[in-house]
Amino acid sequence: MSANMVALAYLGAAVLFILALKGLSNPESARRGNLFGMIGMALASAVTLNMAGVHNYAWIFAAVAVGAGIGTLIARKIPMTHMPQLVAAMHSLVGLAAVLIATSALYNPEAYGIAITGGGLHLSSRIEMFLGTFIGAITFTASIVAFTKLQGLVSGRPLVFAGQHWLNLLLGIAMIAAGVMFCITEGWAPFLVMTGIALVLGVLLIVPIGGADMPVVVSMLNSYSGWAAAGIGFTLENNMLIIAGALVGSSGAILSYIMCKAMNRSLINVLLGGFGGAGASASSGADRAAEDRPVKAGAAEDAAFLLKNAESVIVVPGYGMAVARAQHALKEVVNVLISAGVKVRFAIHPVAGRMPGHMNVLLAEADVPYDIVQEMDEINPEFADADVALVIGANDVTNPAAKSDPNSPIYGMPVLDVGRARHVIFIKRSLSPGYAGIDNDLFYMDKTMMLFSDAKKACEQLLQALD
Ligand code: NDP
Repeated sequence: MSANMVALAYLGAAVLFILALKGLSNPESARRGNLFGMIGMALASAVTLNMAGVHNYAWIFAAVAVGAGIGTLIARKIPMTHMPQLVAAMHSLVGLAAVLIATSALYNPEAYGIAITGGGLHLSSRIEMFLGTFIGAITFTASIVAFTKLQGLVSGRPLVFAGQHWLNLLLGIAMIAAGVMFCITEGWAPFLVMTGIALVLGVLLIVPIGGADMPVVVSMLNSYSGWAAAGIGFTLENNMLIIAGALVGSSGAILSYIMCKAMNRSLINVLLGGFGGAGASASSGADRAAEDRPVKAGAAEDAAFLLKNAESVIVVPGYGMAVARAQHALKEVVNVLISAGVKVRFAIHPVAGRMPGHMNVLLAEADVPYDIVQEMDEINPEFADADVALVIGANDVTNPAAKSDPNSPIYGMPVLDVGRARHVIFIKRSLSPGYAGIDNDLFYMDKTMMLFSDAKKACEQLLQALD
């Protein structure tokens, strides 16, 4: 395939990737966006396989078959609620790939078509290897730590210790110094030292981040993995990898910025870790839960009575709705209410669930019309006029401690103003806390009714009671 043809096909694939990102920014066009992305990737892969210098097709196709097999198996089995940890695991693979490619390119540059002059690599190639490797190494271990936290293999709470930031700074400087040494000498020793420090740094950067900051971490790792891929694209002089990496890197960075803004946090603050500052304690609220405060528990019939007699209802879905896969049953409840003349809207918090856009995806899956689904800033002023706030499997995103308790680990995060509605119904199985591990004062308000049940079962019972 001629160089011009390759360039043209890569350009086409790049346009398709951009269209994919545009499509994915809205639930209505997300499917089309996915399709563009798939066609773009197929085109880019086919062209790359046809480029001069690509050999060993048997090995390549064997690896593709194994990868595709494992990918298909995981995609079919993974529950939606485990997507963040899956995404984190995928990012770790991108980081690892970047490190391995840079290492093997350094070992045998000719095999990668990397120019050699005077017995050594160009300075630019060494700088590209340095950048691709250290970003890849940080992405690799940081993503593994994020995976273990999100999967619940280790505590999701921030791990903060004295002198942490100084240690990180010191390691950062040592890593750059080793990288510069590598760029000057092209030696294996500084390369390995630089990679080793980057691997340690990846762990240290993520351990102090926890609780409600994890969504930002996932999107940040997404961005890192893109930049690692772009770095390797430079090493391999592959324009497609540079473009695709830069698209992933910049869209991940923009998403991180949007999520930080939604959570009223600065990115630096998140990166330095420990949501709510060093004094924050995730147990402060949980301790209060142990005080045994009284709550009003009700049955589905009581909740149905409130809903039926309401003029306006705001539904607040959260992680529990996703776990119970209650969105379809909930949609039926909403249908009955709407046909009875009740004004129903959905309130979506930007970090509800376990991944950005989680609730939007589930509601779209249940064919909830987009015009009754509203984002936090738009819906918050409406709670004061709502008769009932129906909170289904959500907890942290409604917790008023985010506004009132400076010691709370979620302090400063904007929340849905559920407590301003005339009545509040919480559907959840117990008084257990949510992801941030803190109690919720809303459970104990006079106007709150707790409907203790699995979210799907509760919706089915509500439907019966409404009938
Ligand atoms: P939370 O995690 O705060 O609360 C979910 C609640 O759902 C729990 O209190 C649980 O209570 C209840 N629940 C669990 N299973 C069921 C079930 N089968 N039926 C009914 N209820 C159930 O969820 P939110 O959506 O309010 O908040 C999301 C949290 O996750 C935030 O802290 C956010 O920062 C964090 N996060 C978000 C990510 C994102 O990208 N969106 C990524 C990572 C973390 P009970 O056990 O009593 O039923």
